Amino acid sequence: MCISRCGVVATVEDGRLTKVNADPAHPNGCICVKGTAAPEIVYSPDRLRTPMKRTRPKSDPDPGWVSIFWDETMALVGANPQAFRKRGAWVEEYGYDIGANSGDT
Ligand code: SF4
Repeated sequence: MCISRCGVVATVEDGRLTKVNADPAHPNGCICVKGTAAPEIVYSPDRLRTPMKRTRPKSDPDPGWVSIFWDETMALVGANPQAFRKRGAWVEEYGYDIGANSGDT
């Protein structure tokens, strides 16, 4: 779930991820607590599933996040690619980052 790309063995029961362990054949040979907690993260009701768009100015203490669809997101990026060149700007404005271990969302 991060750039480390550890090797894992995932257990799926009845179509649901239930356990994640280190792949003993992978050079790392271990995973961190976040990797172990992957089933809880995947099914958390608090998990972001879509990009979030700020609807209020940055000076407002309430950013007014609203969920948007990917096609709207891609249209926004396509309309102003310079604004999204910096990864931090993307996260500040749209509240979505790839990976659970990025630390800046
Ligand atoms: S989140 Fe942990 S287990 Fe997953 S790839 Fe990163 S370091 Fe490895």
